[in-house]
Amino acid sequence: MTTTTPGALILIVEDEAPLRRFLRASLGANGYRLLEAETAREALALAASHNPELIVLDLGLPDGDGIAVTRSLREWTQVPIIVVSARGREEDKVVALDAGADDYLTKPFGAQELLARIRVALRHAQRVNVRPEPVLQFGDITLEVAQRRVLRAGEELHLTPHEFRLFALLAQHAGKVLTHRFLLKEVWGPGHAEETHYLRVYMAQLRRKLEVDPAQPAWIVTEPRIGYRLREPT
Ligand code: CA
Repeated sequence: MTTTTPGALILIVEDEAPLRRFLRASLGANGYRLLEAETAREALALAASHNPELIVLDLGLPDGDGIAVTRSLREWTQVPIIVVSARGREEDKVVALDAGADDYLTKPFGAQELLARIRVALRHAQRVNVRPEPVLQFGDITLEVAQRRVLRAGEELHLTPHEFRLFALLAQHAGKVLTHRFLLKEVWGPGHAEETHYLRVYMAQLRRKLEVDPAQPAWIVTEPRIGYRLREPT
């Protein structure tokens, strides 16, 4: 039996021809349909006219910056954006993620890594668009969103309200890195966006309650100097 379901439509924004060829070959071979832009202006025009399901976005473009492109897109669309850039500094990643990018890959990267990130971003977008799931499962950890309960192996864990909100945010964005600033704003409010030490304390508490071995966390992953990511269940 052959299936001919068309793959998701992906917009590639990259000004370097060899990299565009690499992206075209790796994504095309996996059944994705592709659009290509070489400039920020083209990227915004194609995003508006074709409504792609995901955007792979280079930061250094001839007529502008991918960060500005991300901000303009976020004024009207929640399309997943995966930034690919040669800028490997943590600050650059944080700026891109805070501008609204969903993920960040530093060049050079492998095709498999990019494909995995694309699958996560598409799954996540689908989940957000359909409806929030009432129950999320991570190994033996269960999050019952409406009941505001977290269970491990069927046993209810006693989380403080801040711990619960942190875990619920990570769980609802599983697979995606959430920046310190985002987590602090969502949980403690805009006035506390710089208090990263809160996060260190609360993440340590959460890990003690959730993880089998808090020193080797299986679920809550630290992205050094950027934020945290909850692993997707496989
Ligand atoms: Ca470039």
